[in-house]
Amino acid sequence: MNQDLLMQLKGVSKTYVMGEIRVEALKESSLDIYRGEILVILGPSGSGKSTLLNLIGGMDRPSNGDIVYKNRHLSQASDQQLTQFRRHEIGFVFQFYNLISDLTAEENVALAAELVKNPLPTREVLSQVGLEQRRDHFPSQLSGGEQQRVSIARAMVKNPTLLLCDEPTGALDFQTGISILQLLKQTRDTMGSTVIIVTHNTAIGAMADRLVRMRSGEIAEIIVNESPLPPERIEW
Ligand code: ADP
Ligand code: MG
Repeated sequence: MNQDLLMQLKGVSKTYVMGEIRVEALKESSLDIYRGEILVILGPSGSGKSTLLNLIGGMDRPSNGDIVYKNRHLSQASDQQLTQFRRHEIGFVFQFYNLISDLTAEENVALAAELVKNPLPTREVLSQVGLEQRRDHFPSQLSGGEQQRVSIARAMVKNPTLLLCDEPTGALDFQTGISILQLLKQTRDTMGSTVIIVTHNTAIGAMADRLVRMRSGEIAEIIVNESPLPPERIEW
C-alpha cells in the first residue's frame, strides 16, 4: 500500500451544543490518511461517521484536537483558507446527489469546474462516468444511479486530492450501487485520488485498503486489508 501521508487527525473531537444538550459526536479520535488509498468508514447510524467525514473535508471545525493536511494546520485555518481547501482539494459525493435541479448534467459539472484553476475537461469527465449521451438531461430525467454519476463527475472535474463520499450507494439498488463503487475505485486507479467512503453497509468494507470502524463517536478499530475485493465481487 502507498504510505505517502496526506492528512493527520490528532485527538480530534466534536461536540454539538444545543441549549442544555451536548452531543459528543466524535470523541478524541486520531487517524492518518494516505495518498491514493481507499478508506472505508463503517459504523451504525449515529456513530459519528458523517461528523468525521465533514471534519476531514473542512465542512466543519473540530471542538478540540488538530487536523494537519500537507503540513497545514486546518484546525487553525481562517474561514477563507478553509473555503479554499474545500474548493481545491476536496470533492464531495452525497447519498442524495445534491445536484442543481434546473441545470443539465453537463451544466452541473461545468459549474464545479469554474471553481478551480485547472479543471479537467467537463465532457471528458462526463464520458468517463458513462454519461456522454445524457449530458443535456436534467436531474429529474435521470435515474438515481445516473444522478450519482453526475455527482461523481462534478467532484472529479475539480481533480481533487480527496474524494469524500457519504453513503454514496445508500439510495441505490444493489447492481447500481456496485457500479458506483466500481466508478469510485476506477477514479482512484486512474487519477490517484484518495477515496473515503462512509457507509453503514458492512459488505462495502471488503473493497477497502483500510477499514475504520466507528462506535458511539469513537474509532473502535482500524484494519489494514491485505487483499481488497474488487467491487464486482461484493454482495449484500
Ligand atoms: P452517522 O453519520 O454515523 O450516522 P453523525 O456523525 O451524523 O452519525 O452523528 C453523530 C451524532 O451527532 C448523532 O447523535 C447526531 O444526532 C449528532 N449530530 C450530528 N450532527 C449534528 C448537528 N449539526 N447538531 C447536533 N447534533 C448533531
Ligand atoms: Mg451520516
